[in-house]
Amino acid sequence: MKREFGGRLVDMVGAIDLHCHPYPDLFPRLADDLGIVTAARDAGLQAIVLKCHHESTVSRAYLVQRIVPGIRVFGGIVLNSYVGSINPAAVEAALRLGAKEVWMPTVDAGYHAQVHGGTGGYDAQQGGRSGEGIWVLDKAGQLKPEVCEVLELVAQHHAILGTCHLSPREIVALVKAARTLGIEKVVVTHPFFKVPNLDLPTLEEIVRLGGMPEFGYCTVSPAWQYASPDKVAQAIALVGASRCLLVSDTGQRHNPLPSEALRIFSQTLFERGVSEEDIQTMTRRNQYSLLDLGSAPELPDDVPATLAAALGEGSRPAPGSRPPDPLAEACG
Ligand SMILES: [Zn+2]
Repeated sequence: MKREFGGRLVDMVGAIDLHCHPYPDLFPRLADDLGIVTAARDAGLQAIVLKCHHESTVSRAYLVQRIVPGIRVFGGIVLNSYVGSINPAAVEAALRLGAKEVWMPTVDAGYHAQVHGGTGGYDAQQGGRSGEGIWVLDKAGQLKPEVCEVLELVAQHHAILGTCHLSPREIVALVKAARTLGIEKVVVTHPFFKVPNLDLPTLEEIVRLGGMPEFGYCTVSPAWQYASPDKVAQAIALVGASRCLLVSDTGQRHNPLPSEALRIFSQTLFERGVSEEDIQTMTRRNQYSLLDLGSAPELPDDVPATLAAALGEGSRPAPGSRPPDPLAEACG
């Protein structure tokens, strides 16, 4: 029986975090892929998606998945300058290698640069490359051709599209085009973060268009404080939990590990009146279908054997014995 210590404790067993930031990264991090995934598994999470502003996380996720059993691990690609901006070739490779989400530009978005005074960093962390920001609309207000090409790839692979740090106007245009091109899964990344900081009518409009707001703990955390938990609870009540997601968006040193951040965020919203049923929907059910976990192939159960083979167990010299001298052997 679960101990509740005098009040309802929101249960994280089976939860899924769609957005966290492990090391390696150009920003300082609290833990690396292995540490974050192991902690999430030990907290009972059933799946986690690794995000990095500076490179694809698909191969990182693949490798950690081979090492840490008991949790599903996925990656994706953020279309910042580090991967060639809105680069269909990078997107296609990431998707064919198993990417679950394609994220529009974050710290390199034109809107991010406009609001933060430049690309590459935040108010609370610095470390990226400064340069011109990326906009997805041309001067006439149309989506650029390379953006449409990326959307077509995301649709073909039934992947998730994340809106990230685009401007509110860009997000509306992108979500409309994404739906027209057949993308079923559009996630509106941290709507109340400093970017995009959507107002409620725009958020409602985007939800009507088919977008799913993804509220992150980082947005309400002590170091960032871009919105209050009450504002998040109000938005959930407005658009409905069936359309919303809760994520950690952590990995920063000043925030808890993703599994704990997701628990704190969920518990806080529960104490603000969000029902436990709705918390379950926003931390498990919606993510489960976005990741197609119901139809995901079982992982091969050969992790110990693979590890043993990789470590060369069985062919190691006995402790204390001298390794063979290749020179002596070669010279007979
Ligand atoms: Zn993030």
